[in-house]
Order: sequence, then structure tokens, then C-alpha cells
Amino acid sequence: MMNYPLTLAQILEHAHRIHGDKQVTTLLPDGTFHRYNYTALYERVQRLANAITQLGIHCGDRVATYASNTYQHLELYYAIPCIGAVLHPLNVRLSPVQLAQIIREAEDKLIFVDNAFAEQFKTFESKVECDQVINFDPMFADTRTLYEQLIAEATPEYAWDIRDENWAMGLCYTSGTQGEPRGVLYTHRSMFLHTLAANQTDVFGVTEADVVLPIVPMFHAMAWGLPYASMFAGADIVLPGIKPPCIAKLIAETGVTVAAGVPTIWAEAYPELRKRRTDIRRLRRLIVGGEAMPLSLIEAYEKELGVEICHAWGMTEMSPTGTFSKLRGVHRSLSDAEKWKIKAKQGRPIPGVELRLAAETSNGFTELPWDGETIGELQVRSPWTANSYYKAEPSAEHFTTDKWLRTGDMATIDADGYMQIVDRAKALIRSGGESISSVALETALLKHPDVREAVVVGIPDEKWGERPLAVVVLTPIGAVSNRTDADIADILKQQLTSEFPKFWIPDKFVFVDEIPKTSVGKSDKRAILQMFAPTVRR
Ligand code: AMP
Repeated sequence: MMNYPLTLAQILEHAHRIHGDKQVTTLLPDGTFHRYNYTALYERVQRLANAITQLGIHCGDRVATYASNTYQHLELYYAIPCIGAVLHPLNVRLSPVQLAQIIREAEDKLIFVDNAFAEQFKTFESKVECDQVINFDPMFADTRTLYEQLIAEATPEYAWDIRDENWAMGLCYTSGTQGEPRGVLYTHRSMFLHTLAANQTDVFGVTEADVVLPIVPMFHAMAWGLPYASMFAGADIVLPGIKPPCIAKLIAETGVTVAAGVPTIWAEAYPELRKRRTDIRRLRRLIVGGEAMPLSLIEAYEKELGVEICHAWGMTEMSPTGTFSKLRGVHRSLSDAEKWKIKAKQGRPIPGVELRLAAETSNGFTELPWDGETIGELQVRSPWTANSYYKAEPSAEHFTTDKWLRTGDMATIDADGYMQIVDRAKALIRSGGESISSVALETALLKHPDVREAVVVGIPDEKWGERPLAVVVLTPIGAVSNRTDADIADILKQQLTSEFPKFWIPDKFVFVDEIPKTSVGKSDKRAILQMFAPTVRR
């Protein structure tokens, strides 16, 4: 057989040659649309590839984007990897301190900044050493090169030359359980294979006739691979900018058939979608993941709107798709209520992904049964799963000796292979589909001289999934001891604000004399949850 390289250049070429007339539509900040087709995109990607090369970017160099979901970002999704450089989308929700640390570790040589975040970028620009910054918009021209100027002045053709499918193509950071973000480096081969797997009928199931709307930000785990999967399938793409003021209106105006985003987005959008039920008739499927999709919301979408919910589970470390919750043929005869119960599980491994449930023993791990009841640590492997973090040796905390990834999720798997997350072993709170490290917040709180102990837990929240709650023990004669609880909470919030993103800051602080402890003297988070959120099953 031919040794045919699996590269993103093949995806781009296929999209251009076979689906050149398919549309990319971007919602602009003024409410109008920017529209062009794959051929126009392809021509601009070629120019961009030449321009980036001219700027001195070589094979393997990291190039960051600080941008929302727009056609420019989509162009960069192809131009950067297709010249052999590494696309590094920065999470705009992280704090300046975290971003500066990530950019330093990644050694990004060039950063592309979206207009929407130009002001925000200025808050940490001086803290990063980066050769060049390219702005999308003339408004922020100052001394910087502009994106359009760069494209206009570049030579038109570029001959793709990815010589090895194992070259890195992308870098995404996940928030680590200990607070320090960890990089995951994807290769052309891993992303190509992820794209093929994601495009199967029983996975994303995107076809040439679809209009795909990735609400999931392009900095979150490569927008779940949708920019590549959609263009390989030849679907039209709708890009929503930052966050559309009204998702229902956008779906109605652009005829979206498949949309993807975290449950918080779909909970928020539901009332408006319901009002416009007749305008969104073409919407046939939502791909939902990042955190658990509540059964009631699945029911609401399927029963009231006739929209199929595909509940997915994955991780940045997995490119990111791992499991997909679709019904089997034998489920056809079940009642709707029984079907929704199955769909609320995180689903079966997609082809190419292996799962196992494990329990730690004194000499390694033993495998647990798939009986739908036994809870174990979920471990995975696949051609698109990382075998180490960027610039780090694989550690026993994250990888087993036989080379499986320890996901940090606790789960059951039933005899049919449906996996259900029941808990998280890692100290992460999931809020709006993003991780908040409880350990990082606890460490930061303990820096205050009057805080003796601090524990942060995730309290269930209807809108966000979970929100952090800080439980604090103060030193008895500290400087703040004569203040009210509200004042002390404000002081502590202030302290956290300089280090962490706004959405990480606990909504509530509770001051107690003592924190419940486990038998080995650790903070007993389960007991704390029972005290402050007694309805939680832990
Ligand atoms: P990230 O790398 O930011 O995408 O986070 C991955 C983590 O998100 C997983 O390890 C899970 O803890 C959580 N997660 C992702 N999808 C789901 C889901 N469908 N249900 C519950 N948790 C999820």
C-alpha cells in the first residue's frame, strides 16, 4: 500500500477541490454576516501560509491565536499547521497571569489577536516575549502588522510539504488538577484520524448537506475537531464570533442543521429556541459535551423541539472525542423516558477509542467489570490520545505503566459499553464546560496571612453545572478578625482576582471553625458537600 501521509493539508485540498462552493458564514459584531466559499478561504490560506513563512516562522515553531470563532481563525486553523508550524489557540477566559505563563512555556513566536480581544490582550502583552503580534482590525493598528495587509501583500500560491504525518500540528492547554495548565500536542496523524472517526454516521454524523455551527470556542480542545470534520465532510460552516446575542436567531437566519456546545449554552438558549420553533425547523442535532447534559434538558430538546441530542464525553488530551451517546437499534422499542435515560449517559467509545475501568492496587491496577454498577477510574487509549504532556515526562499520576491515560474521571460502564461519569477523582470543578482547579484556588487563599485552612468545592448550579464555594478557617487573632464575613470575603475575592479568571472566583465564602477531615486527615470534600449542598450524590 502507498505510504500516504495523513495530514491536514489533505483535508484542506479535499475541501477545496471537491467542495469549493460550500459556504463559511461568520456573524460579525455589528450583526451582519461575512460570507465566502471554501475556494475563497483556500486562496487566503495559501497567501497566509506564505505570509507566515515570510515572518520567519519555521517548521515546529508555535504560533498562537487569541481569537473568537471567525473566518480568520478558521484560516489560521489551516495555514499554521499546513506550513509545518504548530497552532496554539489561547483560552481567552484565562487570567493574564495564566496566559503569560502558557505563552512563555509554549515559546509562541507570533500571536494573532482578534479585534474583540485586542484590549484584553494589552493587559498581559508586556509580560510575554513574542516576536510579533498581528491584529485583525485596523482600529488597533498602532505599530502592528494587520492581518488583511499581510494577506494582500503575500504571494498567492503555496505548495504544502508536510513530510511526516507525526509532525506536531496543534497545542492546547488544559487546566491541570494542581492548578498549573498542561499542554497537549496533537500531530497531523492524530488529528486526521480523529477527523475520520468523528465523521462516522454514529459519531458527529456531519454530511455535505449539513450547516454546522460550532458554538464551542475554537480555543477549547480544537473546537472539538469540528473545523476539520466539517470541511472534510463538505458541510457549510457558521461561525458565531464571540457569543451570539441570540443563538436561536443565528440558527434561524443561517439554516443551521447541526450545532455543538456545552450544556450551559443549550439551557440558556432553550426558551428562545422554543419560541422560534418554526424558524429553526432545519436544526436536527446538537452535539453536547464538556460536562454532563441533564436528562431534563435532553427531554426538553427531543420532545418539545424534535432536536436529537448527542451527548459526548472527551478531554483536551483526547483531541477531544472519546465517547458518544447514541441509541442502539435494539433501543427502538423502548419508551421515550428509557431512551433519554440512556442518552444522559456519556456513551459508548467511538471506533478507535478503548476504555477500561480500573482500581488501584498495591502493585498497579486491576480491571473492573462492565456491569453498569461497579465504579472505577476511567482509563483510555487511542491514536488521538496524548501519551504525555507537553515538555513533561509521562508521570504515574496521569499515565499507567502500560501506557493508558488516567482520565481522572470515575465511571461505570454497562454490558453494552455505555459509560457513565459518576464523579471526578481530579480536583476540578466544571463550570460552563470549563475547568476550575480547586487546588489552585485553595493554594492562593492560603497565601493570605489570616487564612489558616481553605477548601474549595463545586456546588451544583442550574445554569453553570457547578460553581465554586470556598470554605475557610481564619486564624483567631488575624488582622481581619474584627471584620464582617462579607468584608473578609471581599478581601479574599480581591486577592484571587489578580491571579485567576473572573469565572474562577467563588460565588460564596463560608467561614467555619473547623473543616471536616477524612480518616487520613485530608479535608473531607464529600462531607463538606453534604453540609453545603445536601442534595448532591457523592
Ligand atoms: P476538557 O479537557 O476541558 O475538555 O475537560 C475534560 C473533562 O471534562 C473530562 O475529564 C470530564 O471530567 C469533563 N467532561 C467532558 N465531557 C463530559 C460529559 N459529557 N459529562 C461529564 N463530564 C464531562
